[in-house]
Amino acid sequence: MKAAFIEEHGTLDRLKVGNVEEPIIKSNEILINAKYGALNHIDLFIIKGWPGLNLSLPHVIGSDGSGIIKEVGKEVSLFDEGDRVVINPGLSCGKCFFCLSGKQNLCKHFSILGEHKWGTFAEYFKVPEINAIKVPEKLELNAAAAAPLTFLTAWRMLTTQANLKSEEFIFIHGAGGGVSSAAIQIAKFLGAIVITSTSNKEKMEQALKLGAEHVVNYVENPDFDKYIYTKITDKQGVDVVIDSVGQETFKTSIRLLKPGGRLVIPGATTGPISEIDLRQIFWKQLKIIGSTMSNQKEFREVMNLIFLGKLKPVIDKIYPLEKICEAEQRLSEHNQFGKILLKI
Ligand SMILES: [Zn+2]
Repeated sequence: MKAAFIEEHGTLDRLKVGNVEEPIIKSNEILINAKYGALNHIDLFIIKGWPGLNLSLPHVIGSDGSGIIKEVGKEVSLFDEGDRVVINPGLSCGKCFFCLSGKQNLCKHFSILGEHKWGTFAEYFKVPEINAIKVPEKLELNAAAAAPLTFLTAWRMLTTQANLKSEEFIFIHGAGGGVSSAAIQIAKFLGAIVITSTSNKEKMEQALKLGAEHVVNYVENPDFDKYIYTKITDKQGVDVVIDSVGQETFKTSIRLLKPGGRLVIPGATTGPISEIDLRQIFWKQLKIIGSTMSNQKEFREVMNLIFLGKLKPVIDKIYPLEKICEAEQRLSEHNQFGKILLKI
């Protein structure tokens, strides 16, 4: 079958499109004829590799995908051949205390599809049946593929982790990213007042369209935190900050929060190390909360809202599988607004 894979780690040009063996399913798995895949930053990390990542090569990448079921394992009871499905890329053991408590993303064996197991950027990919859900006829398979990883991540961080309430001020760094554009919509859906940041005018307009009330340009206005404090929140500060930028923005995030505010960290794209004056944490009684992916319940909750049309995945651009290097390049340069897709 045709697939996008690596045979060694390194720069983007290590990524190839060619033929690999078709996956063989276990009794609890389904084989999906992929129609669309969606890019995520984890693709770039896997291509580059990291210490301790020992993949058997070749390795097929891709974490998000939708398609049509070609084959079901003997024990599969939820699906039939021909069903249109989209998948939850979060894999866990299903047997440990955390999995059995519904906290699959705390499982010791939690991983993301495409990370250790072959991913979705292939004619066929497989997942356990509990990682798939049927896509209603009215939703296109491209929109379905664009949703899971970013929406389930954003849903968990804003609901379970931040406990975001109606009328609260939320600041989301970097409007263009997949998780951020999902978070803007979800925060709006929950009734919060959304403030976000971006570096260009086009993204600014798109963020406003998604439901952001205020958008600040962090390049033209590096002191945007003072502007938000005085002009937008009437010298109160914001209730919740979502910071996946990390090293470069952590201090600003702490400054933006009002006393008792919550900082949620779902990533650290500019680097993992930051210095912080601890007095700001205890004087302001801040809560710093990590968030990664979601559990199965949160995945279903947010996908249901997408199926109902209450949240809409944003598609930036669709490339054919053969042009995957160009697509990943666009992602690495942060030029996109919303999700970059592959037509398989
Ligand atoms: Zn487990």
